[in-house]
Amino acid sequence: MAPSVAKKKPAPATATTKKHDGDDFRAPGVLSFVSKLMAREDDALRSIRENTVKDGLPPISVGPDEGKILELLVRTCGAKKAVEVGTLAGYSGAWIARALPGDGVLHTFEYSPKHAAVARRNFERAGVASKVTVHVGAARETLPEIGHLAPFDFVFIDADKVNYVHYMRWAIEHTRPGALIVADNAYLFGKLHLEPAKAGEDAPAVPSMRETLTLMADTSLFRSCAMLPTGQGMAVAVRK
Ligand code: SAH
Ligand code: MG
Repeated sequence: MAPSVAKKKPAPATATTKKHDGDDFRAPGVLSFVSKLMAREDDALRSIRENTVKDGLPPISVGPDEGKILELLVRTCGAKKAVEVGTLAGYSGAWIARALPGDGVLHTFEYSPKHAAVARRNFERAGVASKVTVHVGAARETLPEIGHLAPFDFVFIDADKVNYVHYMRWAIEHTRPGALIVADNAYLFGKLHLEPAKAGEDAPAVPSMRETLTLMADTSLFRSCAMLPTGQGMAVAVRK
């Protein structure tokens, strides 16, 4: 005998089920369609991303869609002098450097000498090596190396989350009015809203990420700020 199946009536539209502009339509097919159209990589960019793991580095770079956002933001603020904290294999750095004018410079900071070596080779491949300087070491200690070159026009923060607030404070002190400061992984892997005790290995990063975003929302420091709703959350703020 066929089991009786309770027929479900469609739920009435309520505040929570009603379609609205906040609904998320980013199905994988939609994302790849848009990326093919708008975030096309050339061979160099693709090989940097695809070889990251073969080169023995973790697969934690931004994706092509996010690389393209960085390129757009760098162009939008007319940046000539850019800073990146967290180089990895140079994938995001290559997008940023390509958006800079011929006489533009990117200073990128990386803790691991191994990552830095891979990145230097990749910047050559991407044709941007002449614009990029890779600084090796813990960024809190190495950022002062470029203090005398301030003010900067664009800062991308994408390294150890527990130190984001220090990188943000450095960025606030070393950028011009109108500069953009961008913080990746701002949703903190979905743990931003949790009490640190419930955030597992990311517990120490919760206060740092919250304080970073609080600074970005401070209207005495920034003209405007918003969260770009990438998969990881990319917070962007315009310096006052
Ligand atoms: N921006 C890169 C990804 C960076 S991944 C991209 O999207 O292509 C984060 C990087 O930060 C790793 O390479 C890691 O080694 C580096 N890192 C971690 N702690 C750091 C520190 N204290 N100072 C500088 N870099 C650090
Ligand atoms: Mg990131």
